[in-house]
Amino acid sequence: MQKIESIQAMQQWARSVQRDGKRIALVPTMGFLHEGHLSLIRLAHEQADRVVVSLFVNPKQFGPNEDYDRYPRDYARDQQLLEAEQVDALFCPSAEEMYTPGHSVYVEEDAVSRVLEGESRPGHFRGVLTVVAKLFLAVQPDLAVFGRKDAQQLYLIRKMARELNFPIAIVAGPTVREPDGLALSSRNAYLAGTAREQAATLHRALKEALRLYREGERNAYRLRKVMMDMVLAASEAEMDYIEIVDTATFTPVTTVQGPALALLAVRFGSTRLIDNMELTAEDAP
Ligand code: AMP
Repeated sequence: MQKIESIQAMQQWARSVQRDGKRIALVPTMGFLHEGHLSLIRLAHEQADRVVVSLFVNPKQFGPNEDYDRYPRDYARDQQLLEAEQVDALFCPSAEEMYTPGHSVYVEEDAVSRVLEGESRPGHFRGVLTVVAKLFLAVQPDLAVFGRKDAQQLYLIRKMARELNFPIAIVAGPTVREPDGLALSSRNAYLAGTAREQAATLHRALKEALRLYREGERNAYRLRKVMMDMVLAASEAEMDYIEIVDTATFTPVTTVQGPALALLAVRFGSTRLIDNMELTAEDAP
């Protein structure tokens, strides 16, 4: 595995791979890797000749009161996991390499980035879209793989790629979960004791909404109320939002008519967890 720290060296590597007619897939991560990340890497291998994983804890997507400094990091372990997955190149620039002094150009989406995660975390998606655009230009992949767990992020990255004409296919990977349903997340490392057990209620609530949906419930208020009651039954849970959005527009619905996503964000102490589930008639094959 090549370890590449500069943008220029990354671009050179990409050009030489492309000259050989090989397809590059990029899997962006913030490290502290888990099976969710590894599943995206395996998906990338299926669809490209060379896989690049980026590891960059992006300061621009953390708010002033968020966990940038204490975000979990374990570079040595990450490197071993990536070697084992036969990743071709690890792109791990420093913050100074990505954001030179005086950096002031950003990618900003003006509608969907303001709601839900964007409302709870002002500036978050500006940071995400800016870093993803920079990663796209550094790695120049044919495709990039993102997890469905971060549904609003996936939606906005697809929108950015389309509207800014990035010639990059955006591929989505399913959410990998613990046996009790908790979606894997680097931030789960913060969950201690009963909070860890209680965190599984997010997935239980989403599954209950799906069950009711499949029984014919189409009233979004009632579906949300059932989820809310289940989540708040966990003594340490604090609700941030529970919403049902139209999959195509990411706007909240009152009646579920077409494809929709149930989304929730819940705090356990200072740890904020998000999860989502597609409301579909059948499980995807
Ligand atoms: P992060 O390192 O948290 O920024 O995540 C990097 C990528 O992994 C993003 O595309 C996430 O959506 C994805 N991801 C995070 N958790 C999971 C999971 N449990 N299952 C699948 N993909 C995930």
